[in-house]
Amino acid sequence: MGRVKQSELNIGMVGHVDHGKTSLTKLLTGVWTDTHSEELKRGITIRLGYADCEIRKCPKCPEPEAYTVEKVCPRCGAKTKLLRKVSFVDAPGHETLMATMLSGASLMDGAILVIAANEECPQPQTKEHLMALDVLGIKNIVIVQNKIDLVNEEKARENYEQIKKFIEGTIAEDAPIIPLSAHHGANVDVLLNAIQDLIPTPKRDPSLPARMYVARSFDVNKPGCEIKELKGGVIGGSIIQGVLEVGKEIEIRPGLKVTEGNKTYWEPIITKITSLRAGNLNVKKAYPGGLVGVGTELDPALTKADALSGSVAGEPGTLPETLDRITIDVHLLERVVGTKEEIKIEPLRTNEVLMINVGTATTVGVILSARDNVADIKLKLPVCAERGARVALSRRINARWRLIGYGIIQ
Ligand code: GDP
Ligand code: MG
Repeated sequence: MGRVKQSELNIGMVGHVDHGKTSLTKLLTGVWTDTHSEELKRGITIRLGYADCEIRKCPKCPEPEAYTVEKVCPRCGAKTKLLRKVSFVDAPGHETLMATMLSGASLMDGAILVIAANEECPQPQTKEHLMALDVLGIKNIVIVQNKIDLVNEEKARENYEQIKKFIEGTIAEDAPIIPLSAHHGANVDVLLNAIQDLIPTPKRDPSLPARMYVARSFDVNKPGCEIKELKGGVIGGSIIQGVLEVGKEIEIRPGLKVTEGNKTYWEPIITKITSLRAGNLNVKKAYPGGLVGVGTELDPALTKADALSGSVAGEPGTLPETLDRITIDVHLLERVVGTKEEIKIEPLRTNEVLMINVGTATTVGVILSARDNVADIKLKLPVCAERGARVALSRRINARWRLIGYGIIQ
């Protein structure tokens, strides 16, 4: 149990809306991640979807055909060998959902950039997502040229050249471009081979204090259930270091908002881990990689409807401080990339409001002062983050939050 079976790392599915991220996730994992009713209705991914996949290899077939997600080789019928269990984080590609994409990106150890072969490249969020990977330092990237079934060879080559030109000078410059059809399953073996070669499992140090980025939180009780059968609140996310264990205490920050008179502050929550789920396995210990669900003794009212998403959880006494004001070194991009025409990015201004993403947390902040690439920012909702952490900065442009750069907390 545990170590062998839990997924080892998170691979992001990123790219423009409708280019096939959710379809490719389904092909690799068997899971359709657009499950929320609103998502089904609108046909777009709104929340982060996680799904696990086993990368396996046939002992008899040559590479790359030997790579498969099946237990039995579809080519020769031999039993395949498990190489790695990985988790895909399906990010929304819609331009209004960059905050969700950015919180997902904070959990990614590598990424697959999905680009549709039947559209001009790059589309706005193809650029914006690649920029987000760059801003957050996600270097291990594989590019999928999807929907190859919809174009002829000439169009496919033309699109390939566009992709090549687009990635020149970016963090994805050396990424392979794999033509693929998520509908027909063509070239999945080549993709799995590339993931094995180019997206290694990061080295983990299990002796570090446990820490998890909370991406979701739930009340798992059915309406009307008996009080004695009530289950405690559940938080879900990815462990970024250390090991969580059933029976141990866990601290969650920022925690609870407390108002006394005209003063408000945030009080860390301490609770006990009552159960752990890694992917769809019940485990005693959970490690980095994949979605981990942590059952706690908390009142489910505290965790319902993602109330604790964006928090940090971990070994009590070891978490970073809760900050409601940050000073950052500012690194702005030259141009806004998520819009049709690329607007020049002006310097930060005092009193300007920005969207700030750090870890899985999203907040807005008002700039108290901005000078020579250093900015002082007052946050509306505090974040639990340490010195040196990267924060993504977005500015409201034409009624949408646009990624404009990043900052490093001083
Ligand atoms: P997402 O927005 O990036 O998650 O894209 P989806 O996976 O939801 O796919 C958008 C649309 O493209 C859906 O109608 C899919 O059925 C279709 N689609 C995805 N991959 C392929 C493919 O390889 N070939 C074809 N023909 N259609 C595809
Ligand atoms: Mg989708």
